[in-house]
Amino acid sequence: MNIEYPERVSLAQLPTPLQPLDRITERYSKPYGGPRLWVKRDDLTESAMSGNKLRKLEFIIAEARATGCDTLITCGGEQSNHARATALAAAKAGLHAHLVLRGAATASNNAEVDGNLLVDHLAGASVSIYPLKQYINELPELFASWSAYYEERGHKALAVPTGGSDGLGIWGYIRAAEELMQDCAAAQIAPEHVICATGSGGTQAGLTLGAHLLGANTQITGYAVCDDRAYFVDKVSKDVADWKERYGKNIAPELLRIAVNDQYIGPGYGVADKAVYETIALAAQLEGILLDPVYTGKAFHGLLEEIKLGAYGGCRDIVFVHTGGQFGLFPHRAHFGSVRAMDE
Ligand SMILES: *Cc1c(COP(=O)(O)O)cnc(C)c1O
Repeated sequence: MNIEYPERVSLAQLPTPLQPLDRITERYSKPYGGPRLWVKRDDLTESAMSGNKLRKLEFIIAEARATGCDTLITCGGEQSNHARATALAAAKAGLHAHLVLRGAATASNNAEVDGNLLVDHLAGASVSIYPLKQYINELPELFASWSAYYEERGHKALAVPTGGSDGLGIWGYIRAAEELMQDCAAAQIAPEHVICATGSGGTQAGLTLGAHLLGANTQITGYAVCDDRAYFVDKVSKDVADWKERYGKNIAPELLRIAVNDQYIGPGYGVADKAVYETIALAAQLEGILLDPVYTGKAFHGLLEEIKLGAYGGCRDIVFVHTGGQFGLFPHRAHFGSVRAMDE
């Protein structure tokens, strides 16, 4: 099927590489009868703007331009990769970014301005940080009041939801699904499964929808990093329904095979246990790739655990989508002191 995409601005370095993870496969998959592991390097979409959010922003920024917006308002955690990528992409596009974040950092508390948040400031974004409770209770009002603030001053703001995940943002991963199919054809593999970390659902929604539209015979599974399976099945369906409605598409969302594993969230969003830090260390030491403790480290750890349990026995190839997140590693520095990847 030929997919017709809406307007897009080119920001990411595409296609990203598809690479085998043979040293990890050898030690952590083959001994359990598991598949060959591959990684789709979406951590390489860019350097500063790295990660999965940039693919969504290509469509979001095109939409902002088409609708005469000069400002992007978005939201997330204090260490949001999405907020950081939005701040930088907006700067490059000549737009202003306003980030509504939940957390504890303040301007007078410079020690906390680390990782993604540091980059938000460098990129010239306006940053408003709210306590967790207020953020959860008042997010729609915060969007509305900041939109009104810009409007009163003669500007026009596009409201971008958490993670850029809605019917607009998921175009980025519909397109990524098409790219990945071409990568797999070139590598002469037909992966039974594609795995990604799921946080706001848009990456999984785009990949699942893209695979469906293209008739790909592969199962996309999101490894949840915050909410449970029921939440994400619903969220992915909603993003697809929004896409369907906005673009007048004729597909039945109930035909999508939405798979979520919610067994590896650990203590909670943004909080990891030791096993995740160890997995991050082993990926760095065996493959030279950097995973992060919030998303990719948890998801990849979950994948290795499931392989150990035999969940992917009989599969030949699995692709893990590396969605980025490196800047989020540094604020977790205190947890790596005693971590060793491998038994000496
Ligand atoms: C946002 C993010 C995810 C999750 O993607 P969603 O589309 O929000 O589900 C995964 N990995 C990293 C590094 C992210 O920043």
